[in-house]
Amino acid sequence: MTPLRPGATIGILGGGQLGRMLASAGAQLGFDVLIYSPEEDPPAGRVAAGVWSAAWDDTEALTEFAKACDAVTLEFENVPVRTVEAVEAAGAPVRPGARSLTVSQDRYTEKTFLNAQDIPTARFEPVDGPGDVISALKAVGGTGVLKTRREGYDGKGQAWIRSPEEAEAAWRRIGEAPAILEAAVGFQCEISVIVARSANGETATWAPPRNTHKDGILSLSQVPSGLPKAVEDEARAKAQRLVQALDHVGVLALEYFVLPDGTLLANEFAPRVHNSGHWTPEACQTGQFEQHMRCVAGWPLGSTYRLFDAEMINLIGEAGLVSPASLGPYDTLTLYGKREARPGRKMGHITRRLGPRKD
Ligand code: AMP
Repeated sequence: MTPLRPGATIGILGGGQLGRMLASAGAQLGFDVLIYSPEEDPPAGRVAAGVWSAAWDDTEALTEFAKACDAVTLEFENVPVRTVEAVEAAGAPVRPGARSLTVSQDRYTEKTFLNAQDIPTARFEPVDGPGDVISALKAVGGTGVLKTRREGYDGKGQAWIRSPEEAEAAWRRIGEAPAILEAAVGFQCEISVIVARSANGETATWAPPRNTHKDGILSLSQVPSGLPKAVEDEARAKAQRLVQALDHVGVLALEYFVLPDGTLLANEFAPRVHNSGHWTPEACQTGQFEQHMRCVAGWPLGSTYRLFDAEMINLIGEAGLVSPASLGPYDTLTLYGKREARPGRKMGHITRRLGPRKD
């Protein structure tokens, strides 16, 4: 593809905080960024050149939007595939395309695809109805997590099952929707690899952060991870294999469980910039948001070299009402411009540089 010139227009499907940070990075590179969101007054809209507030299935609005853009990307993995197809049909290339979305939107398809690329996951079984739960529980070893195939994130649509007696309640708790039952993983820690793939197939990964979750929501990412280099290298290589297999263009995040012996089991991937990569703009030569916009524009990748040891602390709910007086001299505050703090809602994050990289 011909690289976009500065001054070109890039559209983003979705208007949350990821769209907001992508829009800022796009503006820095000289692009006009337009946001398309079903939400009124989306956080990304307030830093963009324009906002389309319309439904995902509004073909007329999507066509107009596509005509206003030289290329389109997304910040939300549950954008309907039909929406992406409508934008492409109206003449704007969408990066990443429908394939990455189709695979990642269904946990069963996603994990089957990962396994086919020689990227192991925990054992999982399809659960299409309440009658499947008990046999699936036996197959995964007696304890597992029931997860809806579609639409779950941040621990939503999930229920643990520790004995056959808990099966029925768990099925009800996830909304009686098609699901998978996944074996419980006794991990030593969780990491993720943020990987970028340019339009001409070049790939780069960042150092894998060690991620800590609270109530199913990411609360802390730390680099370096403290894991042996061989484990990190293997995690990076698998993520690179995944983006090649998907023919993905842009940034993608692959999350892993790390077993006590260093074995990696992939959990899931998000075909977009990711919360566990929010430290990259402050700690690396090129951050994930700039890198993603470079990919969408058909530009070459920037170096992902890490310059600093760092940690990223998520500000969730009331914690987002941060007092500027509490910030340390090496803290970078990013707030998402959300009008209201609700429990579990991601309001912003702090990236703390802990000093020059030591390894
Ligand atoms: P997910 O939405 O699949 O990323 O799950 C959210 C969090 O729940 C993960 O980051 C883990 O901390 C935990 N979790 C999910 N699946 C499992 C599993 N099979 N075994 C142990 N912990 C899990």
